[in-house]
Amino acid sequence: MKKKNIITKKSFAFLNKYINNPSPTGFEKEGQKIWLDYIKPYIDDYWVDNYGTVVGIINPEAKYRVVIEAHADEIAWFVHYITPDGFIYLRRNGGSDHQIAPSKKVLIHTDKGIVDAVFGWPAIHTRSNKTEKAPKPDNIFLDCGANTKEEVEAMGVHVGCVVTYPDEFMVLNKNKYVGRALDNRMGGFMIAEVARLLKENKIELPFGLYITNSVQEEIGLRGAQMIAERIQPDVAIVTDVCHDTQTPMLDKIVQGDIVGGNGPVLTYGPAVQNNLLDLVIKTADKAKIPFQRAAASRSTGTDTDAFAYSNKGVPSCLISLPLRYMHTTVEMTHKDDVENCIRLIYETLQKIEDQQDFRYFS
Ligand SMILES: [Zn+2]
Repeated sequence: MKKKNIITKKSFAFLNKYINNPSPTGFEKEGQKIWLDYIKPYIDDYWVDNYGTVVGIINPEAKYRVVIEAHADEIAWFVHYITPDGFIYLRRNGGSDHQIAPSKKVLIHTDKGIVDAVFGWPAIHTRSNKTEKAPKPDNIFLDCGANTKEEVEAMGVHVGCVVTYPDEFMVLNKNKYVGRALDNRMGGFMIAEVARLLKENKIELPFGLYITNSVQEEIGLRGAQMIAERIQPDVAIVTDVCHDTQTPMLDKIVQGDIVGGNGPVLTYGPAVQNNLLDLVIKTADKAKIPFQRAAASRSTGTDTDAFAYSNKGVPSCLISLPLRYMHTTVEMTHKDDVENCIRLIYETLQKIEDQQDFRYFS
């Protein structure tokens, strides 16, 4: 395979559309439809489960099943309390960041369509050094231009409506992708690109490939838990984001030393099956794909754990994309890392044999 230009004009257009579409946790279906439409030409069959996880399948009749996986959901907020004078308090849907909220525009999703609103904040003139408060979940609020609770409700807003940010995808300095929820829709993009490359390069895999875009990762790996039971895979290669730790105020002693642009990150940890990890590393070495290493503690905190500990134990590994400013609206990643993650998953799949036994001994 050529080293350059994995991402084509067409796939870049898909990426833009996919990232700009809101896909809040629990409400991922519109994003899932965009994703499925894109991969349909590259798969033989697909499943949609009860909560919206989508699986594109190549060789559905094969007994041995290999998963490549990402998560489809984006962190968001829920309308939680509307005050008599029309202000709206929120609950988190996933790990939304209260520190970045003040002064941001938002979209409230209602049955009547999108209602625009803003996170208001007391003017600097009205605060004093001694008394000013930091933004916290219980003091940030939305203003949708209404003066009463009745006015808010007349716009279609009610408790339980989901709130997302309108920030859109952009490219900085030709090689940095910036946008909301690159965590982890960049992963959905990467596994879709692997499916496309397999088809375009006429690669025949000896096993069934389950290209899985799970819902509800951000609230505890829930979509992956559900779909792992349905697929009952023999191997799972999971992709998610990790922290690029080169930006200000991060402590490398605590967070590790990961450099955006230096390649995919391979995680060591109890949930990662070492023979599978070795295969990924040998593949990277042979294909001259740069990679970095990270260590997890008790768990990886990603869908890797959900697959690993399902079905009496599924050999699983984690290939991560370094990301700056996780869970802000300006998450940033390096194009080279995106392409190298795609390349590494694509190459690794071609090294897995039908019925491969990953056990340490037998
Ligand atoms: Zn996340």
